[in-house]
Amino acid sequence: MRPTTTGSAVPISGIHHITAIASDPQKNIDFYVGILCLRMVKKTVNFDDPGTYHFYFGDAAGSPGTILTFFPWPGAKRGTQGSGSVIATAFAVPVGSIDHWASRLSDLKVAIRGRGTRFGNKFIAFEDHDGMGLEVIETPGVEALPAWGLDPSVAIRGFHSATLSVRSCEATSRMLREGLGMVEQGSENGRQRFVTVDQAGAIGRVIDLLTEPDRAPSRLGAGVVHHIAVRASDDAHELALQRVLADTGYGVTEVRERFYFRSVYYRERGGVLFEIATDAPGFAIDEAADALGTNLKLPPQYEGARSRLEAHLPPVTIPSVRRTS
Ligand code: ZN
Repeated sequence: MRPTTTGSAVPISGIHHITAIASDPQKNIDFYVGILCLRMVKKTVNFDDPGTYHFYFGDAAGSPGTILTFFPWPGAKRGTQGSGSVIATAFAVPVGSIDHWASRLSDLKVAIRGRGTRFGNKFIAFEDHDGMGLEVIETPGVEALPAWGLDPSVAIRGFHSATLSVRSCEATSRMLREGLGMVEQGSENGRQRFVTVDQAGAIGRVIDLLTEPDRAPSRLGAGVVHHIAVRASDDAHELALQRVLADTGYGVTEVRERFYFRSVYYRERGGVLFEIATDAPGFAIDEAADALGTNLKLPPQYEGARSRLEAHLPPVTIPSVRRTS
């Protein structure tokens, strides 16, 4: 039955976090802390599968718009970054830093997949140790944000964008506009760009859509994004977005308590799993800001199982940032 009532979306303010599957937990930390120089802001477990880790990497404070998270499954086989998934996760770096990133990534033996200019901004495409598609993109305005790990002239500040591959763009593009309140900025080389209405701040404002009718479907495994989460400013905003999406025929979940935020989930019609996550309460709820990521943190329902979980999870260490010449 066709929906008859539709509300209008209160626009999202950007990407909240992106979650992917990794293989080896230590290699995952070594790459994102040692090479990309993100801060590990939380070491916890998968709330739906507490026998596996859930790692969160981001800026110094773990701000929404900077958080890349992983479920590391030791021994996981590589998946396929295919249609119906986020095929590239892009980080925002200061204008003028792309040459530094080219030499840093090549010095550290990272696989470079391409380099160019997109919508006027220089970028490098590369892969992590599991083959996950990553980019750094020069992003005007990010130089003013706090830096972590590397010199402020080059350090990653958070997300620039996510690129989604879909076989047909109409339903996805409509969901981004009418469900999440984004606006289409334009197209370049078959890439449709959607941006948030609110352009305050420089990070996480962009979702790019690639229409690739012949691309193989996504298959979950190491190196593949599981879902992308967008930002609700508070619980009322999340409920309003949930209602608009439900009214337009999406199967949206109930609100789930994720301890660091509250979430609802839905799969958009191009196949990409979306989440709406609240900005609050954030990662300092169970750890001091200067100690983020140093200890295994468990939500209350798993505290009683701490010793059993700790005995089962492989030990990991947080490396120092790798220096290059
Ligand atoms: Zn999530």
